[in-house]
Amino acid sequence: MAGEEGAAVSADDLAYDALLEWIADEVAPYVGEGRVADYIPALARVSPDRFGMALATVDGRVYGVGDYRERFSLQSISKVYSLALVMARDAGSLRGRVGVEPSGNAFNSLIQLEYERGIPRNPFINAGALVVTDLLHSLTGDASGAVLDFLRAEADDPTVTIDGAVAASEAEHGDLNLALAHFMAAYGNIENPVDVAADHYFRHCSIAMSCAEAALATLFLARHGVRADGSRLLPVLGAKRVNALMMTCGAYDAAGEFAFRVGLPAKSGVGGGIVAVVPGRAALCVWSPALDRHGNSVAGVEALDRFTTATGWSVF
Ligand code: GLN
Repeated sequence: MAGEEGAAVSADDLAYDALLEWIADEVAPYVGEGRVADYIPALARVSPDRFGMALATVDGRVYGVGDYRERFSLQSISKVYSLALVMARDAGSLRGRVGVEPSGNAFNSLIQLEYERGIPRNPFINAGALVVTDLLHSLTGDASGAVLDFLRAEADDPTVTIDGAVAASEAEHGDLNLALAHFMAAYGNIENPVDVAADHYFRHCSIAMSCAEAALATLFLARHGVRADGSRLLPVLGAKRVNALMMTCGAYDAAGEFAFRVGLPAKSGVGGGIVAVVPGRAALCVWSPALDRHGNSVAGVEALDRFTTATGWSVF
């Protein structure tokens, strides 16, 4: 698709479309390689042969290839937006509650939390996102609703919604996340009732969006904090910090390898999506549900690697 419907087709449009088509061809052999997440049973029902990729430029134009208009479960990608919303309302509230160092451990690991007395390493492991969700709930009274409203506005689509079946499945199989939350509550690092904080976390992880919508919703980070309507969500410094955390902690315990191969701030989710930011230029979202052992989409990482190699659009 060349740019927005009805818009004149420019050389840039043709180049972006051709680039995305080329990437889709290149990564076709990787689509389906890996395993679809099954620890949340509702996610296991998604077919591993899907692949979509969207590029949104800072002027709001969207280019895409493959299944880029099909919605998928954001999962951990939603942690970026909940963090940004807390920082927008009260960045100081995060102080002492969550760190900014990569964990080097699995995203749902309990071990580190015990050593570090209930203070999660960073906001993108599950423990950290539970704390952020708890803070957002205290600040808004409706953490998952605040994330949903933000995403609907940025994607300019009021039909973006929480997949109730995925949220229920997460809650039903949520013992590990509940254990993390209870453990932190014992250290006073969860303010709301544990089941309330966890429920809002499960709900914002279960928001379904397409690559096109998620790329649009991530553009505020490429615009150094400015939203789709031109208003500012975060100061420049705040956007820098979110991007830095995505770079160092966004791909779970494979963030180092991801930086090495792709070289962009990014956040992956076990639904198979990855969003990435090219500061000042664009946001990307790629989706393919089969994951590597760290929980990152195999074809998704391949696609972003090809993208930055071909364009030179990495931060390095
Ligand atoms: N909701 C998922 C969980 O809590 C998110 C994990 C992920 O995408 N890494 O396990």
